[in-house]
Amino acid sequence: MDRTKLAVIGDPIAHSLSPLLHRFFIEHFHLPFSYEARRVTPDELPRVFVELKNSSYRGFNVTIPHKQAILPLLDESSETARAIGAANTVIIEDGAAIGGNTDVRGFLSMMRLAAVDLSRREVLIIGAGGAARAVIFALQQAGVSRIFACNRSPQRLEECRRWMAATISTRSEIWAWHKLSQRLRKQRPEIIINATSVGMHPNVGESPLPKTLFSPEMTAVDLIYNPLPTKFLQEAKEAGAGIVDGLNMLIMQGVAAMEMWSGKQLDIEARLPELQKILMNKIA
Ligand code: NDP
Repeated sequence: MDRTKLAVIGDPIAHSLSPLLHRFFIEHFHLPFSYEARRVTPDELPRVFVELKNSSYRGFNVTIPHKQAILPLLDESSETARAIGAANTVIIEDGAAIGGNTDVRGFLSMMRLAAVDLSRREVLIIGAGGAARAVIFALQQAGVSRIFACNRSPQRLEECRRWMAATISTRSEIWAWHKLSQRLRKQRPEIIINATSVGMHPNVGESPLPKTLFSPEMTAVDLIYNPLPTKFLQEAKEAGAGIVDGLNMLIMQGVAAMEMWSGKQLDIEARLPELQKILMNKIA
């Protein structure tokens, strides 16, 4: 069977940037694929999964709300996907569906492109959802010296604490939400990452942190790419801190997925400004 189709499955899916991103790769690197967005509800997931696996799909991306639910359906998953408990990319190889998680590589590539060295740094991550786990896993790989983790709901923070204890060997500390400002003033982490959805379109007037807590020696990183920049990053910049927005993570997790499907290395860096412009036009 000729496997030339690719897709992203999720719900909602109408505003996904993945078709634009992957069609750019297909066109510019002359790859033999087509890419579509498919709205798939949780009830439909098992049926659609079997359909994709047994028809002409080379693979697919998985987004909200299926990143965790897809795992038990897969024939195999990468060590990273298993450790994080979520897959965002599936490849069909010899009839078997194999899941991976390219958010880890996306995050590390974004930080490399921004020339932010993570090794031996103290990092605060705000948020404890799926993206936060991928980032925490990446921070360990990058050799940070300490991770401070904070989240609004204590239940999810506790789940994250247990997951970190079982998965991560980097020194870490958990901060209760109501103590965030106080702990931040005391510890002064060098890098602060927003892995919550606070400040994401349409709630563009919100930030997870009071602006008085930023200082020029910090770097603020936001995984959000709509809007660009978020209020969190705008306020960090006004305080003189370095900033990194989430657009390159989106692009680089996509590059990693397309490299899995095509078996080719995509030399994206020279084309990055052009692709960023296309995506930013769609976001604006
Ligand atoms: P989840 O739904 O799994 O987690 C959402 C997180 O946001 C939780 O920690 C939640 O805390 C927190 N949160 C939501 N609303 C509030 C609020 N009002 N106040 C404080 N905390 C809040 O989402 P993901 O982890 O998948 O995604 C998180 C963000 O990362 C999203 O904005 C997403 O767009 C972005 N992202 C970007 C990627 C990229 O490529 N650039 C890749 C993946 C994600 P609580 O537990 O208290 O509800």
